[in-house]
Amino acid sequence: MKLEELKPTWIEQYKKPMIIAGPCSAESETQMLETAKGIKLSGAEVSVFRAGIWKPRTKPNGFEGVGEIGLKWLRKVKEEYGFRTATEVANAHHVLAALEADVDILWIGARSTANPFTVQEIAMALRDTTKTVLVKNPVNPDLGLWVGALERLVGQNVTQLGVIHRGFSSYQKSKYRNNPNWQIALDFIRQYPHIPVLNDPSHICGNRTGLAEVSQEAMNCGFAGLMIETHCSPDDAWTDAEQQITPDRLAEMIAHLKIRNLDLCGYDEEINRRRTQISDLDFQLIELLSQRMKLSEKIGSLKKENNIAVFQPDRWKTIAEYSTMKAEESGMSREFIEKVFRAIHEESVEIQNRLMH
Ligand code: PEP
Ligand code: MN
Repeated sequence: MKLEELKPTWIEQYKKPMIIAGPCSAESETQMLETAKGIKLSGAEVSVFRAGIWKPRTKPNGFEGVGEIGLKWLRKVKEEYGFRTATEVANAHHVLAALEADVDILWIGARSTANPFTVQEIAMALRDTTKTVLVKNPVNPDLGLWVGALERLVGQNVTQLGVIHRGFSSYQKSKYRNNPNWQIALDFIRQYPHIPVLNDPSHICGNRTGLAEVSQEAMNCGFAGLMIETHCSPDDAWTDAEQQITPDRLAEMIAHLKIRNLDLCGYDEEINRRRTQISDLDFQLIELLSQRMKLSEKIGSLKKENNIAVFQPDRWKTIAEYSTMKAEESGMSREFIEKVFRAIHEESVEIQNRLMH
């Protein structure tokens, strides 16, 4: 089975958007049950309770998760409060223990996704499972690596797949703990429209204040759900304390989310009319670009005959100047037009370079 052909059905059993909530780490039975109870009482529309049992920590000698005993607590949460459950697995042993404990959703963490050996080991341990498996994006913005992890799972006949956008790490300081990259997530959706994409605003923000905004952005992009770290007493959490929220805050946040419709809500006719106009303009743009490239080719032949260098820095300067000036006159952003013209100019140079050979 090819990833392109995969149509996972697991998401259908959940309300939209599907919300996964629960603590970063399982700490004690009391903390797990208190948090689950808090979520239930808050009225938040949560379907799945998460908790990290084995924690990948940046530095050694810290708390690395309670280990297998936490799986018992997850089971208790399921029995007492009716939530489905989810945890992170990072090796074959974790997978076997989580399957044995009947965890409903297993996810591969960002650090693991970045390592093909780890992903292969996990995939092989999961072979033929019908459980839902979610793959967080790798820590570095590499769509191929992310997709590769899914392909390894499909290769072991693991088909109930989904992904989680949790942002990408960077050395530069920014307002995010892990910078979101909506472009990569949207490219993923474009290529694999049937694979559900969730968002993890907690690990993107690294704090409580940005959560609502990032969650809303995910809804605007049509994501299928959210994973939000929630703790009965966030300030006392053993891991990721700064970003965890109380069940009540979670309920409030979810209640304020604007869920966007994926269908056209009766505006089909108007939207389709405008789309036809847009397609017409796109065809004209393509025709104009083709004429432009043909002219470049002519110039290229002249350069070749007369041994003139292909790239002329002054020429790019002129194009950049007039295009950004025009952009401003017509109310478009300079950055956008510069990006477009840079791509056009690069293609021209490329065409002329090919002629030279
Ligand atoms: C987590 O979900 O607690 C976690 C460790 O996330 P990530 O793999 O995104 O860092
Ligand atoms: Mn965490």
